[in-house]
Amino acid sequence: MPETNVSFKLCDILLPREQIRKRVAELAGMINSEYRNERLVLVGVLKGAVIFTADLARMIEDSIDVRMDFMAVSSYGNSSSSSGAVKIIKDMDTPALNQNIILVEDIMDTGLTLSYLKDMLMARNPKSLKTCVLLEKPERKKVECAIEYRGFEIPDEFVVGYGLDYAGRWRNLSDIWRVVEG
Ligand code: 5GP
Repeated sequence: MPETNVSFKLCDILLPREQIRKRVAELAGMINSEYRNERLVLVGVLKGAVIFTADLARMIEDSIDVRMDFMAVSSYGNSSSSSGAVKIIKDMDTPALNQNIILVEDIMDTGLTLSYLKDMLMARNPKSLKTCVLLEKPERKKVECAIEYRGFEIPDEFVVGYGLDYAGRWRNLSDIWRVVEG
């Protein structure tokens, strides 16, 4: 994450809204073919994945019995680099036992948050657990964490929009933008 003592401004669009929409539809298509006539719990990670989770859910076909749930987490310690220790601010409301779960995240940076959440949910014995991540920064990866549904690989640059923020701003942008100091 950018240093907090400098300000940032929007630079340019990395992923335009049409490209995001097309890719979300493709991910929903994969989910539709794999969970037909099944029950599925989509677990969005607040707040960054809210818009992605909502768009994805609306593209999942009616034959799938979808529940939506959310978790809120925060990393312990230094905000500029994820320590891997994750504090659960809000847990799922639905019991995970025997459920088909897809954990929906906005972005995988080091992978520490996602792998922590996956381990935590696996310990609850779901019927299945997969991850759906809109953005991945492969250059930043510190831990291996399988992603079954991946939107885009992006370079190691800080991005905002489509649910992603900088200091609480810019989640509402329809496109995904790069930010720069200034
Ligand atoms: P990880 O545990 O994978 O290192 O961290 C994932 C979290 O870092 C994301 O859920 C997000 O909150 C934050 N993050 C990482 N890269 C970016 C980025 O480019 N933009 C924004 N807005 N958040 C990011």
